[in-house]
Amino acid sequence: MSYCLYDAYGYIGDLASNHGLTLMSAYVRKVAHEPQVKQFFEEGYAPITKELIAGLKEIHSPDKDIADTIDNLVNLLARCDSVAIISDGTGIESPELTIHRGTHEIGGSCVELCSSSGATRIIIDIGLPLVNKDMSPFEWSIHRKSTLPQLLEKKILPSVDGLYENDKPAVTAVVLSHAHLDHYGLLPFVHADIPVYMSVGTKSLAEVSNAFLNTNVKLDRVKTFEMWQTFQIGEFAITPYLMDHSAPDAAAFLIEADGQRIFYTGDFRGHGRKGVLLDRLTKDPPPRINYLVMEGSMLGRAEGLYPDEASVEQAIRDVFLSQKGLCYVFTSSQNLDRLVSIYRAARHSGKTLVVDLYTTFVLDKLGVLSKSVPQFNWEGVRVLYSYYHAQKLAELDKALLYKYKSAKIEFEEIRDNPENKVLLAKDNRYVRNIITELKDSGKALAIFSMWHGYLERGDLEQFLEPNSIPITEIHTSGHAYINQLQMLANALKPRWIIPIHTFYPEKFRNMFPNVMQAEDGETISLC
Ligand SMILES: [Zn+2]
Repeated sequence: MSYCLYDAYGYIGDLASNHGLTLMSAYVRKVAHEPQVKQFFEEGYAPITKELIAGLKEIHSPDKDIADTIDNLVNLLARCDSVAIISDGTGIESPELTIHRGTHEIGGSCVELCSSSGATRIIIDIGLPLVNKDMSPFEWSIHRKSTLPQLLEKKILPSVDGLYENDKPAVTAVVLSHAHLDHYGLLPFVHADIPVYMSVGTKSLAEVSNAFLNTNVKLDRVKTFEMWQTFQIGEFAITPYLMDHSAPDAAAFLIEADGQRIFYTGDFRGHGRKGVLLDRLTKDPPPRINYLVMEGSMLGRAEGLYPDEASVEQAIRDVFLSQKGLCYVFTSSQNLDRLVSIYRAARHSGKTLVVDLYTTFVLDKLGVLSKSVPQFNWEGVRVLYSYYHAQKLAELDKALLYKYKSAKIEFEEIRDNPENKVLLAKDNRYVRNIITELKDSGKALAIFSMWHGYLERGDLEQFLEPNSIPITEIHTSGHAYINQLQMLANALKPRWIIPIHTFYPEKFRNMFPNVMQAEDGETISLC
C-alpha cells in the first residue's frame, strides 16, 4: 500500500512540512489496520483518539526540527476532536521504495526504487531465498525445473511488473551488490533486454559459478561499475562503495534522485580483511542521507568464538602447527578472505595447501582484485584434479587445464605424505571418497570454516566420526555485529533506518530511535 499525505499548505501551516508529513505517513503505515486510520483515508477525516496521540508521541527523532514539528502536531491534535488533512491539490512528488522481499528474512533480497516521474525503475539485488515460509532451509534443487509462472505462483520469484522474461520489460536496470546467490540467484529469470550492473569481482564470481555450479546467469548484458565512481541509470545517480564482506568486491550503494539520498548497505561487516573500509566510511560518510536501508543478519545470532578474520587465521594456524596428520578444511571457495587465512596459516606451519580445480579457477579469476590472493603457481599451493572439475573447466577453456598443470598433485602424493598437507574440502562424494580411502593414515583432523548452520543441516559430523576424524569449528561471520551497525548508522545520521536482510526487524527499534519497518511488497514514498 502506498500513502501520500498531501500538503495542507496554509491550513496546518508548517505542521504539514515535509518532515511532519513523513512522520505522519510513517505512523499511518504502522497503524494502517486501525479503524480510525481506515476512516481517515475513506472519509478524509478521523476522530482523534488517545491511541493516535500516543502513536505520534512514540515517534522520536534525533533531529530537533523534526522533533519540534511532531510535538507541535501532537499539541494541536490534542485540542481537536478529529483530524483532516486538506489538500491544496498539489501532490508531493517523491521517489518510491519497495522491498519486494527481505523485510523479515535473511536471503532473497529484492529492492525496487522508482523515480518520482515513474520513468526510471531499478531493482537492487534479485536473490534466491534461504528459507521457506516455515523457516525450513530453501532447496533450489526442488524448484529448479519449475516454469516462470509456477515460480511466481509459489512466490519464489517476487512479483515485480516488467522484470521477468514473460513480461514486457518495464524495469530500467538491475543492480547487484555482491556475488552471493541470496542476492543474485534469480537473475536468470530477468528479461534479457534489461541491463544488469555489477562490480568486476561480482562478475568474475558469477562466471565461475556459471561454469561449476550451473547457476545459468547470462552475463552478456552485464555492465561493470567501478567502486566510488558515480554512474547514472535514468534519473538515479548511483555511487557504489566497496564494503568488507565474505564475498569479495561487495558494494553498498548511495542512490540519489529527486532530492532524496538513499544508502543501501548490501551485506557488510567491519571485521574481515578489509575491515578498514568500514572505518573509512564512518570517518568520511556521505552527507545528508535520508534513508538508510541496512542489513541486520546478526540480530538474534550469537557472535561466536572468533571475533574477526585475524583470530580465525591465528586459530587455524595453531591447529595446523599442532597437527601431525592431514588437515581437511571445509570452507567456501568464494570466501577470498578465508582462502587467504588458510593459505597464510598453512605457510606458517610449513604445510602445502591442496586445492581443487574450481578453487584454483576462483583464485585465478580474482587475482586482479588483490596481490594477496594466493595463486596456483605460488609456493606451497598444489592442485588436485578431479574428473568432474576437469570436465567443467575444459568446457569453458581447455587451455586452463594445461595452465594449472605445473601445480598438479597426484592423490598418491597426499596419501604417502599426509602430515604436511592441508586439503581444502567440500562436503561432496568426491571428498568423502578421499577421506574413506585415507582413513588408515591416522591423525587426520577436520576444520569446519563456514556458518554453523551448514554443519547442522548436513551429516558431515556423523560421517567423520567412524573415520576417527575430529572436527573443530573455526569461523567468523560475514555480517556486521550490532556495534558495527550502530557505528555505520551513527556516522550516516539518516533521517530513517529501514531494516532489511534480518529475521528480527523489530529489534532495530531497540537500537535506533528512527526506524521505519516495512513489509514485503509495501511501497514507501520517500518524501
Ligand atoms: Zn552476502
